[in-house]
Amino acid sequence: MNMKLVFAFACSAFLVACKAQVPPTAPATTAPQALKPVAPPASPKNIILLIGDGMGTSQIYAGMIGNNNFLELERFKQLGFIKTYSFDNIITDSGAGATAFSIGQKTYNNAIGVAGDTLAHETVLETAAKSGRATGVVATCAVTHATPASFVAHVPHREMHEDIAWEYVHSPLQLFIGGGRKYFEQRKDGRDLMAELRMRGFYTATTEAALLEVPQQARLAALLWDDAPAKKNEGRNDILPRATQLAIDRLNTNEKGFFLMVEGSQIDWGGHANETDYIVQEMIDFDQAIGKALDFAEKNGETLVIVTADHETGGFALAGGDFKTGKVKGAFTSTKHTAVMVPVFAYGPGAEMFTGIQENIDIYKHIMNLWNLQPSRKPVRWEAIKRAN
Ligand SMILES: [Zn+2]
Repeated sequence: MNMKLVFAFACSAFLVACKAQVPPTAPATTAPQALKPVAPPASPKNIILLIGDGMGTSQIYAGMIGNNNFLELERFKQLGFIKTYSFDNIITDSGAGATAFSIGQKTYNNAIGVAGDTLAHETVLETAAKSGRATGVVATCAVTHATPASFVAHVPHREMHEDIAWEYVHSPLQLFIGGGRKYFEQRKDGRDLMAELRMRGFYTATTEAALLEVPQQARLAALLWDDAPAKKNEGRNDILPRATQLAIDRLNTNEKGFFLMVEGSQIDWGGHANETDYIVQEMIDFDQAIGKALDFAEKNGETLVIVTADHETGGFALAGGDFKTGKVKGAFTSTKHTAVMVPVFAYGPGAEMFTGIQENIDIYKHIMNLWNLQPSRKPVRWEAIKRAN
């Protein structure tokens, strides 16, 4: 064999090996072989992914104690766990955590829709939209915040709120409901993204009353708060379950199905603040949104509902409580995120794919496989996304 050819082959093999990204935080042992599923899973028409930010098992049980020993979550029969570590840390942030779900890559903390090399991968939401499905995002924080942003935007750092807002304008979303209006209308570049949203066919709404007036088939951009809404235990109403219902009703008018991401954003903030009641009330609120998704899925029969978390927050433990009074005695080991596995709940066609212990990136893989989807474009430099629009 020609020595030059052998050399070229060795070089390219070396380059491929270098390019393959082995997460430095990944354990050295090989993963155990998963059992083969006995029959191919059915393909759902619609997928609703609900993410409780910072929701570990203690947060869930605290919600049960605070809610008379019941959560809608108990309706699920198929459960699993995911490992949440990021590309560069055993403890993930919400950027890397949500990006694992949205692009199926372990990435570095603070990344939004980009892999460890900052290349912008098409998100599951974008691929779903390309395939003709309607897409939506609902959150109880700014829509430019890490979790919702990771499904819509591609920036190297989560603090780039104004760039993220710009990507919402150019996104394929049929609807989004959340906060963060200031990043659309009080910008350093002086642009009025509310007007730009309207130019691109969105109806904009800044109040709940206006939101209800938007025609059913229209694209909807509901930016209800300047930044984040109030805590549930400080006066926020039940907008999260209602917005979830509204989003489902609107997206369900699309014949080809839909993908909806709903985030219970502030369970995490209760953990950071080490405030037990904050966690309990946010957990119950998020659970009511889950109930809306399950009620729809039960009636519809073609909808997969997945509930999970990006990570746990606070190292929250339950030192006591009382079902009768709903009082929870919480204890915390941290004001930050922790490394523990978090639960996954699934209901509907394909739910069996989400049971057992898996990686967070498997959520993306299963959704793509169940819908038989491939990204419609190759990863590109994140800066190129802006130039392309
Ligand atoms: Zn957090």
